[in-house]
Amino acid sequence: MSKPDLGIMYGDEGLKNTKKLLHKFGAAERLVWSGARVGIKPNLVLPSPAEKGATTDPEIVAGIIEYIKNYSPAEITIMEGSWVGSETEQAFQTCGYVDLAEKYGVKLKNLKNDGIQTLSGGKDVYKICAGVLEQDILINVPVLKAHCQTKLTCALKNLKGCIPDSEKRRFHREGLHRPIAALDQIIQTDLVVVDGIYGDLTFEEGGNPVKMNRIIAGLDPVLVDSYAARLMALEPGDVGYLKRAAAKRGVDTSLSEAHVQEFNTPVDQVSLRENSSRLAAELSDKYINGKAACSACYGNLIYALYRLKSNGALNSFSDKIYIGQDYRGQKMEGPGIGSCTAEFSRNLEGCPPEACEIMEFLKNDVL
Ligand code: SF4
Repeated sequence: MSKPDLGIMYGDEGLKNTKKLLHKFGAAERLVWSGARVGIKPNLVLPSPAEKGATTDPEIVAGIIEYIKNYSPAEITIMEGSWVGSETEQAFQTCGYVDLAEKYGVKLKNLKNDGIQTLSGGKDVYKICAGVLEQDILINVPVLKAHCQTKLTCALKNLKGCIPDSEKRRFHREGLHRPIAALDQIIQTDLVVVDGIYGDLTFEEGGNPVKMNRIIAGLDPVLVDSYAARLMALEPGDVGYLKRAAAKRGVDTSLSEAHVQEFNTPVDQVSLRENSSRLAAELSDKYINGKAACSACYGNLIYALYRLKSNGALNSFSDKIYIGQDYRGQKMEGPGIGSCTAEFSRNLEGCPPEACEIMEFLKNDVL
């Protein structure tokens, strides 16, 4: 059977699940890292621990390092340039990367102190941190989260940490979408591993984390972002830079041709209140009747509800939506999300259904 375009592993054990995911995805057969310089680019936008929803879980990066070292010697550097106003060194420290680097004997590179190369992307030229371009293999390890201006930040937008601060300011002046799409033409990403254990519902800075319990692997950042958008109840066409990057690469963002493989099932059980931000808890209290729902399913429902609420579609909705494993086999009136509520009068199949699908189901069959 052919290797998948995207691989998904559910769960919150970053180290163990990343290694399993990369093994099942066949990363070692697809990339040659023997003796290579391997750059790992997490999202350390600011000094904030991963469970707040803004930064990459160091356990996932540890999983990548252990996986690579298991196959071959490689010169590994973790690299980042935090956003304007944050010190990368502090982010390395707070997010656990100083300890990580020491434990595995890998380098940390603050891209804010790096040399610069100027390269063209489309009609414009861009300044890129030289250390990124010196790598033989670049592994992009973004967080799955919302962005206040671009709606989504995942693989493509994570490359913004590979440019100097002056260029970051310029990207904002230019409206972000065009220059972010151009970066995809300039910086070659070889592998993407998305930290979707905690996503953030509203903002790239974290603060409204939602436990999503999944890690995603892919070779093509446009395909990865197209899948990520759907997990956040967005259509890829809603995200300007994704639409542009897809057009430049000729990638079909509908994923209809893509081979997406889930390597396990989302069988964990969490309290809906546990692990929830205030905003997620409010949505949960008001609209959800959950019993032993998996985080992956629950997180998708929260994203769908948040998107509907933002559009005003929930203004007159006062029913409850049912979700969770304890509803298995129960015949009940009302809307049920996921295969566990298959016997409900209105049901959306899937284990878990995507946030986009949940949003359509609620819009068409429930509201
Ligand atoms: S359908 Fe049921 S088992 Fe599947 S993810 Fe949802 S709650 Fe979990």
